[in-house]
Amino acid sequence: MTEKAAVHHESWIQTEIQHFVATSPGNCLGKEEFEPAFGKPLVGFSNGADPLYDEYVAHIGNFYLTPLKTFQQAFPEQQTVTAAELTVISWILPSTAATRKDHSIRNRHPSERWARTRYYGEKFNEALRRHVVDRLLDQGISAMAPVLAPFWQKSMDGPYAPCSNWSERHAAYAAGLGTFGLCDGLITPVGKAIRTGSVVARCPIPPSPRPYTDHHAWCLHYSHGTCGKCIPRCPVNAISHSGHDKKRCMAYTHEVMSAYLIKTYQIKTYACGLCQAGVPCMDHIPAPEEG
Ligand code: SF4
Ligand code: SF4
Repeated sequence: MTEKAAVHHESWIQTEIQHFVATSPGNCLGKEEFEPAFGKPLVGFSNGADPLYDEYVAHIGNFYLTPLKTFQQAFPEQQTVTAAELTVISWILPSTAATRKDHSIRNRHPSERWARTRYYGEKFNEALRRHVVDRLLDQGISAMAPVLAPFWQKSMDGPYAPCSNWSERHAAYAAGLGTFGLCDGLITPVGKAIRTGSVVARCPIPPSPRPYTDHHAWCLHYSHGTCGKCIPRCPVNAISHSGHDKKRCMAYTHEVMSAYLIKTYQIKTYACGLCQAGVPCMDHIPAPEEG
């Protein structure tokens, strides 16, 4: 593929994602009156041969999939593909200002808008993954969405358990879209109250610039030794100055919260996200003086 063609792909994929988010009726909170779940998305690209993906395997465990492994599992007839021929397309879907405002004043349970974003918004995110794959296939480009693949799974093994064999947030980090906070959420230029998604395509596109070298660069706790404002936001003390206790968080979000969401909003999902709102990194990269 020529350089010109690669740049063309970068621009139409970006436009396609932004257009789908702006116009799809599926981008909604599932209420009687239409209300969008997400605002304008950010889009970034990383190359399949980026050494970060091997680093993820080394840190997370051998079960973790690189772009090459995930692509080859989806397209077993394309075993000769190289990692460098693959691009990981990542996006960030920012929750709306109304959702963030509602959630910021909650301190024990999710707001209705947050719960709806988690359920209906993630359904839309799934539709967006399928849409991106379909548009690429229309252009004759093989593509797949790792988290929609039948082999995508969660694992309770390894030092970062519970985790999955493909992480949307790690793909977004590789694409220059954000760095991890004390609570493990991804802090992006549009904040941490987001959903994220990705698609792997056999279509080399220039990788997006990665404006950081440290995976915690945009979290004030790690960069300046300040903030820690997500710590008291957690109702079950799953965040401390040492980091995020994923098992404690999961026990609360999956068990206590899923029962609450069904009872209160009749929504069958799990959610909490209190540490993602009412904090300086909720809707932007926090400045040092905000710590
Ligand atoms: S609230 Fe502060 S400490 Fe917590 S993730 Fe955001 S910037 Fe980091
Ligand atoms: S999602 Fe909820 S339970 Fe988990 S760390 Fe954040 S505030 Fe705590």
